[in-house]
Amino acid sequence: MPSYIKKLVRPNILALKPYDATGAACRVKLDANESPYPEPLNAGLLRSVKTNRYPDPLAVDLRRAFAKRMLPPKLRDIDRILHGNGSDEIIYNLICAFGGPVVYPCPTFSMYGKIAQALGENVIEVPLGPDFDIDDARLIKAFRKEKGKIVFISRPNNPTGNSFSWEKIVNIIENVKGIVVVDEAYQAFSGEKSFLPLLNRYENLAVLMTLSKVGLAALRIGFLVANPHLIKEVNKTRLPFNVNSFSQAIAVRALGGTGMGEGVKKIVSERHRVFKELRKIEGITVYPSDANFILFHSPRAESIYCGAICEGVLLRNFSGPMEGYLRVTIGSRKENDAFLKAIKNRAAWVEDPHIKNRAEGSHIEIKKEKEIEKEAKKG
Ligand code: PMP
Repeated sequence: MPSYIKKLVRPNILALKPYDATGAACRVKLDANESPYPEPLNAGLLRSVKTNRYPDPLAVDLRRAFAKRMLPPKLRDIDRILHGNGSDEIIYNLICAFGGPVVYPCPTFSMYGKIAQALGENVIEVPLGPDFDIDDARLIKAFRKEKGKIVFISRPNNPTGNSFSWEKIVNIIENVKGIVVVDEAYQAFSGEKSFLPLLNRYENLAVLMTLSKVGLAALRIGFLVANPHLIKEVNKTRLPFNVNSFSQAIAVRALGGTGMGEGVKKIVSERHRVFKELRKIEGITVYPSDANFILFHSPRAESIYCGAICEGVLLRNFSGPMEGYLRVTIGSRKENDAFLKAIKNRAAWVEDPHIKNRAEGSHIEIKKEKEIEKEAKKG
């Protein structure tokens, strides 16, 4: 980088690692927690969009359709809803409005930290306790000591898949003088209660939601639900035409239909099946999930990851403190079968003592597979 640019860039941006959402080009894409079921599009709907006009800046029809479909009757007031270009954008809006320190349990969704850093705010990461549950006492203590402003709690948590205990989150809401955002991106797949009804009780609570996991990831639509005073302030940081007209029109149609709900049911049933199958495989530890993905651990995670790519199946692997963990998104039955076949082949390959010699040479294989992966990324 030319030194004059380096001097001009803010130090927090220079230090920031970009979010890498590019994966190897695989036939079966199970790395990004997307739904395998797209919303059918029709030409009439697309033609109804006037491409020469800006989108509705207030997305009134969209917020109404969302309220009707996704919110309990008492919360169906569009002044309680902020729309975002994905819920990622709303995380940005929230940190922009309230500032930091930004507090969250760790490991969790990486964008809380990345956006905070991009905005020059400090982050406080509080390690999860046993069974990946949130350590409420430690989080509250850290929040108070560092004078935190906002807490992000993903429930179910990405990437662990579990729902933190209700009481511990309530304890946090009641004991921090700051905003608590419960991110319910994966709530549709969970049998646990939503925090939405508590919005009437706690002014510092906000619930973040998205349409990305239920078949509409391409549209980039997220929502924040909170009390109207909070929404009014956060809305000041929103760019005027943040959700485009095609996305608004398609989402309004989808929210009025039944496809999204049917997709969720199929995914939950497949999650149970994949979980049971994974538990039968020796050498991997599988974690129960309330979301549309499953986390598992293996000392041979890298080999399983690369082996799956060789069979055309893309998983999510992790580095740093999550090294050795892999996350698989629940896809269609066929995609899940491809994943199970790939992992069974690989697990047997690395566990079987008769082919130990081959396994010992696996680092060479892995190197080869990494090269294949790099090539695939380039392509
Ligand atoms: N929250 C969580 C917990 C997530 O895992 C994700 C996406 N992976 C998001 C928010 C962002 O979703 P989107 O921007 O697509 O709405």
